[in-house]
Amino acid sequence: MVVPRSPRGVIVNISWNKRQEQLRQQYHDIAADLVASGSDARDRAGSFDRKVWDELAATDFWRLQVPVGIGGLGQESWDWLAAMEGLSLGARDLGFLMSVASQSGLIRLLLTSGTAEQQRHWLPRLTSGAIAATASTEKSGGSDIRGISTRAVRQAGGGFVINGDKAHITNAPVADVVMLAARTDTDPGAFELSLFVTATDAAGIERGAGEDLLGLRSSPTGPIAFHNVRVDDEAVIGGVGNGLNCLYHTLAYDRVLFGVIVASSLEAQLPQLMRRLAQREAFGSPLAEHQYMQEKVVSMATAIEGSRALAYRSFGLLDARDRGYSLSASVTKLFASTGLVGSGLDLVQAFGHSGYESGSAAERNLRDSVAFKIAAGTDEMQKKNIFNHVRRAVR
Ligand SMILES: Cc1cc2nc3c(=O)[nH]c(=O)nc-3n(C[C@H](O)[C@H](O)[C@H](O)COP(=O)(O)OP(=O)(O)OC[C@H]3O[C@@H](n4cnc5c(N)ncnc54)[C@H](O)[C@@H]3O)c2cc1C
Repeated sequence: MVVPRSPRGVIVNISWNKRQEQLRQQYHDIAADLVASGSDARDRAGSFDRKVWDELAATDFWRLQVPVGIGGLGQESWDWLAAMEGLSLGARDLGFLMSVASQSGLIRLLLTSGTAEQQRHWLPRLTSGAIAATASTEKSGGSDIRGISTRAVRQAGGGFVINGDKAHITNAPVADVVMLAARTDTDPGAFELSLFVTATDAAGIERGAGEDLLGLRSSPTGPIAFHNVRVDDEAVIGGVGNGLNCLYHTLAYDRVLFGVIVASSLEAQLPQLMRRLAQREAFGSPLAEHQYMQEKVVSMATAIEGSRALAYRSFGLLDARDRGYSLSASVTKLFASTGLVGSGLDLVQAFGHSGYESGSAAERNLRDSVAFKIAAGTDEMQKKNIFNHVRRAVR
């Protein structure tokens, strides 16, 4: 297969090689067996199953893209993406996938911006079952990062003392490791952000109870508080004052993963929609013969193809550290979340009243979908980013 190049010369993978196909199938099967089986029960109970998480870690899923010298298998980042796509296809649990995306964000950050010591210390833990949270949002607001009040104050003898409260953080109620964004500025009126990583059993860290949410109920989301938490200089990821850069890169990575998750989970739902349209009859013919209903299939297929193609392109740009990644990741996330929620509504509509009943697959799917318009930057923030890129580029 011809591998196209983007205008900037970045290779964009559009087809998996044999090894990647195998990984994709392997993780599809693992997810179908491990994750999908208890998914509805976890949604009903609003619970996270640590055993499922541990069993996934035991398959070496997290180690795939980590270099051999630090406990990984040293495969390409695209290999891991193939595994992630397979996992997303088989899981039937957007909540679990949200937790996975969050974990991936910290692993990626450590791989791209961590020191050798940070990688040696954290990666073996995170790849063998330790759960990570990445915390920037606070109750006062998530879109405007400059509004955060968590502060890390440098100490005369070295290290920092951190105080602040984070809220709505994926994995926080069960996290073993947390990456947090804190202000490190000292001048009034200045804004300097730095990222820190620490174990959640450090003195002064309090993980709150899970929040009761509309959807993604199998993903534990909650507050995490920092009261005079002492960390050493080695806890800073990417350098003091470089937090915004690192955070934007991690958020872009999450947005790209959302594209993969959305394409794969819609692909898993498409047969359900097709079956419904073939089996249900109205006005003497199957729903599949009615054009307004056919349109729902077209929209879902477009969301699948578009989200996947955009995600691959963005992943290629991120991997190459091409500066086009930011625009591309925002377009990916906006397209994917719009397609996911649109298809979620279409699926409910295709099932009529039975799709609107609590406990139906369509109902759960719609509840879960909405979070993708909010987490990792809202749709409005993607639009703002896209507009700003265009304004800079086109005069
Ligand atoms: C399931 C889930 C998981 C999450 N996990 C994490 C996590 O792991 N880590 C983390 O740090 N956060 C997490 N969040 C929080 C998420 O990042 C924030 O909810 C999000 O950034 C929006 O912040 P907010 O809720 O405070 O809304 P606000 O920032 O108060 O915004 C409210 C509304 O106003 C809009 N708005 C704000 N500013 C503008 C503007 N300039 N122009 C136009 N519209 C604007 C927003 O788009 C939004 O619609 C999670 C959220 C969800 C739903």
